[in-house]
Amino acid sequence: MAGNHKKDHVFTVNVFEIKKEKMKHVIIGNGIAGISVAETIRKSRSGDEIIMIGNESVPSYWRANLTKYILGSTPEEKMRVKPEGWLEKNEIHPITGEVRQINSEAGNIIYQTGDREDTLEFDRLCVATGASPIMLKIPGHNLPEVLTYRSLQDANYLKSRLRDIKRMVVIGGGVLGLEVVEITVKSGIHCTIFQLGSKIGLPLVDDQAAEILLRRVTGRDGTHEQGAEVMFDVQAKEFLELNGHVQGIRLKDDSFVPCDMVVICIGIAANPQLFENSGLSFECGLVVDAHQQTSVPGIYGAGDCVIYPNESGQMVPTRTWVTSRIQGKTAGFNMCDIPCLLFDEGPMYNASYLFDMFYTVMGEFNAVGEEYQSYSSQPDECSYRKIIFKNDRVVGAMMLGNRNGDQAIRRLIAQNVEIVAEADKKSLLDPAFDPNDLATQGVEYIMY
Ligand SMILES: Cc1cc2nc3c(=O)[nH]c(=O)nc-3n(C[C@H](O)[C@H](O)[C@H](O)COP(=O)(O)OP(=O)(O)OC[C@H]3O[C@@H](n4cnc5c(N)ncnc54)[C@H](O)[C@@H]3O)c2cc1C
Repeated sequence: MAGNHKKDHVFTVNVFEIKKEKMKHVIIGNGIAGISVAETIRKSRSGDEIIMIGNESVPSYWRANLTKYILGSTPEEKMRVKPEGWLEKNEIHPITGEVRQINSEAGNIIYQTGDREDTLEFDRLCVATGASPIMLKIPGHNLPEVLTYRSLQDANYLKSRLRDIKRMVVIGGGVLGLEVVEITVKSGIHCTIFQLGSKIGLPLVDDQAAEILLRRVTGRDGTHEQGAEVMFDVQAKEFLELNGHVQGIRLKDDSFVPCDMVVICIGIAANPQLFENSGLSFECGLVVDAHQQTSVPGIYGAGDCVIYPNESGQMVPTRTWVTSRIQGKTAGFNMCDIPCLLFDEGPMYNASYLFDMFYTVMGEFNAVGEEYQSYSSQPDECSYRKIIFKNDRVVGAMMLGNRNGDQAIRRLIAQNVEIVAEADKKSLLDPAFDPNDLATQGVEYIMY
């Protein structure tokens, strides 16, 4: 079954025996991971105390929908993750504050709220602090039109400035960068993307899918009147200023690209300072095992702040909404002494849009190596599908343009179904593929 490899990635199998009548759970961060932790604990242990500390002064919101919010397709009232009154109803005590220090050994955290510093003891702790955008710290990065994009506040600022903008540069043509490109192009603003290397959309697409995406983003596939311009392998040296505002970018080769706004989307990183002297293992993220437990028993991590063992056993960052939510749930169960592993719900899955193309990735979607075998098809200019096998079992898939049938493939991965015949393997490339047909041909598959 999917997930049987995960037991190799467990620090300690829940040896933190407290089993108090009533436990005190502290959650740092009220994004989707933190909310999911709180919800799971409340459903599992009705009498426990739950305290959730977040440093944004707004209720938890759909961060992954910020672009739709800017574009107006998700109205403000639909941005709340939970309805008004949900925290009170579930007896989850919120604190608006900034956690400054985690003391694993002492079992407490220190946080700042207003101008007061307080200490909070915990029986169980979950760190769900997300990550922050990486700033390109070259001269001029403090100018008011040189932005990053992560929070509702960033989105409101970007939205409020769009009407003044004529030329935008987006640095980084990954998933987030392409969201900004979409906002820009749809607002009728000239857009240039700077991308290192020769592909956009990485790491969610492979080379072939990147070409399809490039044609869409530049408008070359004919679906949009206006597309963006993509400049490959360029590096910014300086943001140039005129009267306190950005007027363009000087490149490393000394050429000049005019613009009146820049959005930097070159990646995100968890805040290492929070983990200094905490006793918790931190590499490029807070290290957790397949139970979402950190190197210290009783302390868990979930969401974009962690690195975790993926399906191939590599330590990877989270970076997606659904995985953050499932990690929160996994952490929540384990915090209540209900053993649970990350992939118990099924393989990693992420579905959204790249620019305005549907995409789905799941499982080991970007696995490479001799042990993997992949089949792909490109039925038309605007869609692509790849299925990855290992030892005759589907382990991952990538779909761009058309994601029909993705749940069928996901079930095959979850059931660890063996598919030997070449024709059967290729049949998975058909968006209308039905795994129940495999079952009727003698493949061992639990029908739905
Ligand atoms: C514009 C945008 C679009 C996206 N689109 C998609 C998409 O289409 N699909 C997808 O799967 N993913 C998408 N993502 C990624 C997805 O939103 C994240 O993976 C997910 O929100 C991570 O949730 P989290 O709870 O780990 O972190 P966050 O949502 O960042 O929540 C962490 C919270 O903790 C707070 N915090 C941090 N440090 C402290 C501290 N010391 N004390 C107190 N509080 C603290 C933070 O301010 C924040 O409020 C998108 C992200 C962005 C920014």
